[in-house]
Amino acid sequence: MQILAIDIGGTAIKYGIVNEDFSVEQSFEVPTEAQLGGPHLMQKMLSIVGAFADRVDCVGISTAGQVNSELGKIIFASENIPNYTGIEIKKTIQEQFHLPVYVENDVNSAATAEAKFGAGRGYRDFLCLTYGTGVGGALWINDKIYTGDYFSAGEFGHIVTHTGGKKCTCGNNGCYEMYASTRALVNAVKEETGKELTGREIFAPEHFNNVIIRAVLDNWIDEIIGGLTTLIFIFNPPCIVLGGGIMNEDYIISEIDRRIHARPMHSFQSVQIKKAELKNQAGMLGAAYLAKQAM
Ligand SMILES: [Zn+2]
Repeated sequence: MQILAIDIGGTAIKYGIVNEDFSVEQSFEVPTEAQLGGPHLMQKMLSIVGAFADRVDCVGISTAGQVNSELGKIIFASENIPNYTGIEIKKTIQEQFHLPVYVENDVNSAATAEAKFGAGRGYRDFLCLTYGTGVGGALWINDKIYTGDYFSAGEFGHIVTHTGGKKCTCGNNGCYEMYASTRALVNAVKEETGKELTGREIFAPEHFNNVIIRAVLDNWIDEIIGGLTTLIFIFNPPCIVLGGGIMNEDYIISEIDRRIHARPMHSFQSVQIKKAELKNQAGMLGAAYLAKQAM
């Protein structure tokens, strides 16, 4: 069996062939051109599927935005991809190519891949968070994604950690992602030092060893832990998997681990803090797994 997996991110679309043992045989990347909007993006998906349709058995799609995975439809997408809300991905592809199609949200896809092939292997339950422009979340409960009543569970980026705080893109104030995302770290470094550094540049020795930058970084790690604390109290998870490029910095994971385990309660002592393992392939592998399962 061969599965076409497509991972639609804010800047790039990764796609390729995944075989039935879930190894990626071929992969490619094209720009998303998100600003051109949802209908344009749908056309891009159709041309990708068209190039592979005669040699694959099903199609798995991981995408930004909230997804009704039963209908394969985008139920909400932010202005990062204008007019993506309402796009019926599954129906549109099936009408043209008559292939089974499964569509899932990107963080849910990545969490599924981590559960089956990565850091979440062996856990019936765990939480998954990804840190980037915002903070994405997924709940893996009873060996599957917990979707909530309307496919919106796990929006950890929008739990309120600062009542009356910074205005968020969701319309509320004080959301977790306004303080704990990679973007929040980058902004805080700029405010304190005037320097425009990327997440990766902050960890270059000349910046990482700067006392002002290190103080900003340590405060940001406390912000990450503030949200995780709430989640640990609610879910008492055995494991939390942290993803997003910034989490490749060992200092962050080890500090989160150290500060969480310094708390006396058993739920804090027992929780395993793990780095996501599958990196760039997580979305594709998760989508491929879900597509095969749905057949
Ligand atoms: Zn928000």
